[in-house]
Amino acid sequence: MTSVRAAMRAQTQKELDDNTKLYLLRNRLEPKKDGEGFTQVTFLLRHYLKVANAAHRQSLTRLILSCHPLALERLRHTEHRRPKIPRDMRLCRFCKVHIESPEHALLECAGNEDIMALRTEFTNKLEYELPQWDLVKNLDPVNRLRTLIAERDTIGLLAKFTHEVIALYEATPVLIPSLPLDWVIARYERSTSGNMIVS
Ligand SMILES: [Zn+2]
Repeated sequence: MTSVRAAMRAQTQKELDDNTKLYLLRNRLEPKKDGEGFTQVTFLLRHYLKVANAAHRQSLTRLILSCHPLALERLRHTEHRRPKIPRDMRLCRFCKVHIESPEHALLECAGNEDIMALRTEFTNKLEYELPQWDLVKNLDPVNRLRTLIAERDTIGLLAKFTHEVIALYEATPVLIPSLPLDWVIARYERSTSGNMIVS
């Protein structure tokens, strides 16, 4: 029985590690019960599922599981006869320069003043409540967001910030690039020959 459980755990962990849509959960660690360091735990009621505010918790959980309305996910799928948009063309509706990913929307975008004000407010609070913020703020955006998701003490702040930023994105239509049909077909053929990553 123990070996069946171990096999299930290994299989689930492999799926978590291999699924590109779950990239924000990669390499996550949990504190050991004896308080000595961290370890990988596959099955657990995660701390982000215990955020008290239901709306904030839902926004953060959706972001982590890639069920969010940002272009990176939204344009991954076909919609109203529009084809799937290649990843490098899923641009931010505000700055129109970078891929509209969770880490861009939350931590980088300088194309919307309201979001920048929310970010300043959020990082000012982190300076007080996250002792290692001076180190964390210098990580690349993906690892900075992964680290913030892993932080138990400030997870409520991250959930609230995520909820407010996503609401601002949802209030503006997603940027849909126009794609000439022959271009779409050429990209598709290249993708099926293995030379291009669309996902
Ligand atoms: Zn942007």
